[in-house]
Amino acid sequence: MESFARKIIDWYDRGHRMFPWRETKDPYRIWVSEIMLQQTRAETVVSYYNRFIALFPTLEALANAGEDELLKAWEGLGYYSRARNLKKCAVLLVTEYQGRFPDTPEQLLQLPGIGPYTAGAIASIAFGRKCSAVDGNVLRVMARVEGIEEDIRRPEVVRRIRERTDARLPDQDCDRFSNAMMELGACICVPKHPRCEACPVADLCTAWKTGCQGELPVRSRAKPQRVEKRDILLLYSDNRVLILRQNEGLLEGLYSFPNLSGWLSEEEHLSFLHSHGMDGQLLGEREPARHVFSHVIWEMRIYEYRITRENGSYGGWANGQDLQRLPMATAIKKARQYCLASLNQHASKVMHLPLQK
Ligand code: SF4
Repeated sequence: MESFARKIIDWYDRGHRMFPWRETKDPYRIWVSEIMLQQTRAETVVSYYNRFIALFPTLEALANAGEDELLKAWEGLGYYSRARNLKKCAVLLVTEYQGRFPDTPEQLLQLPGIGPYTAGAIASIAFGRKCSAVDGNVLRVMARVEGIEEDIRRPEVVRRIRERTDARLPDQDCDRFSNAMMELGACICVPKHPRCEACPVADLCTAWKTGCQGELPVRSRAKPQRVEKRDILLLYSDNRVLILRQNEGLLEGLYSFPNLSGWLSEEEHLSFLHSHGMDGQLLGEREPARHVFSHVIWEMRIYEYRITRENGSYGGWANGQDLQRLPMATAIKKARQYCLASLNQHASKVMHLPLQK
């Protein structure tokens, strides 16, 4: 009987989606794509990937990237620690590895931001090493093929699935095997309503034989996200808006507007301004915004104030061009849009009051 690996590789060879990272063996480019693909659909990643590679075509270029430039290129992908880890890893590879990626999963695992999946993907796809790359798609495929009924959120179950995937690796063509497994999970063995009738390994699949595709994989419920109420303050002065660079937390390295915890009163906003050497006058409230992070949801109210006095001790002042140029989190995208609209369209009405210093 034809092996699992052969069937899946032949299926992949007969036709698959074309992505720029599938047309290269450059470990740098494969690494960048795999980090981007961790939380984002492949179709969405393409434009980010192309722009990133145009800006930072080599490991050296990434190692020398400025943080603003790097985070701007990552803007919209979220999980910004991935971008910072990319740069940290690039610096390490340039300074201590002569600008070369190690080619085994064990060595790759020593690098910052590279976990078992990414190490397996780089080693198998770029270097043809005999190792598996088990991401969420592959976990689902293997849980169904092997009929694994345990919770795939448990690390020991993931480990076992990785071992079972290793046991199915071919002696050659591990690069195509890794890509084929991911492709099968993304296109055929999809979470809901898998297309088993089109599946190249249906005759080897336990779930298909027992009709339990719909129940597998078993995945315990994630903890519900915490809801946080936030007030975003757009503080205008002389056609500019006050921005802050975040030094820690979810949005480290990105620029933001003053972002207060809780839904506060106007008095509390003014008291906040006073505590930072400013006075202001409320212009109005915008439509609220909501952003879902992996563990927390921000329910944001957005207020606009005209600043009538400031002592220059808090944050910096940005014009519309700065807001387009600087990296800002997707979470405050709506606030930025309101702000740009105010700066561009209503500037003459609301912005031109002189400051009292
Ligand atoms: S037969 Fe169905 S459940 Fe089994 S691997 Fe193929 S698509 Fe997935």
